[in-house]
Amino acid sequence: MDKPAPAAQRTLFERIIAREIPSKVVYEDENYIAIKDIAPKAPIHLLVIPKRVTARVDEITDPLEMGRLWLKATEIAREHAADYRLVVNCGAGGGQMVFHTHIHILAGWKDGPDSDT
Ligand code: AMP
Repeated sequence: MDKPAPAAQRTLFERIIAREIPSKVVYEDENYIAIKDIAPKAPIHLLVIPKRVTARVDEITDPLEMGRLWLKATEIAREHAADYRLVVNCGAGGGQMVFHTHIHILAGWKDGPDSDT
């Protein structure tokens, strides 16, 4: 079996998937992991992360793979909230900080996303 790449060459989320970095895992299967965001921007803030690494969502070119990712995100979102917002930051100019594709699930506000709680 191939040796895993050195930690410096792997993304933060690969290291979380490998349990080298602790996180609060709310869902995992062979293709995805979902974790609580470490710096939540909403009362519920989860990240849905495909295990197959692409740097940004627009590198996914297979419609099935793209569809499955969004389907998984909606499934996980609905387990945590009736209503929610899905967000993808794409590229540094789009606010992306971790270059391993992920979908943000934001939810849990009392009065919608513009309220403080
Ligand atoms: P983005 O700006 O779309 O790349 O989002 C990256 C997200 O990862 C941010 O919301 C961060 O708060 C979150 N994040 C960074 N490090 C960790 C970590 N160790 N565990 C969980 N979430 C993290």
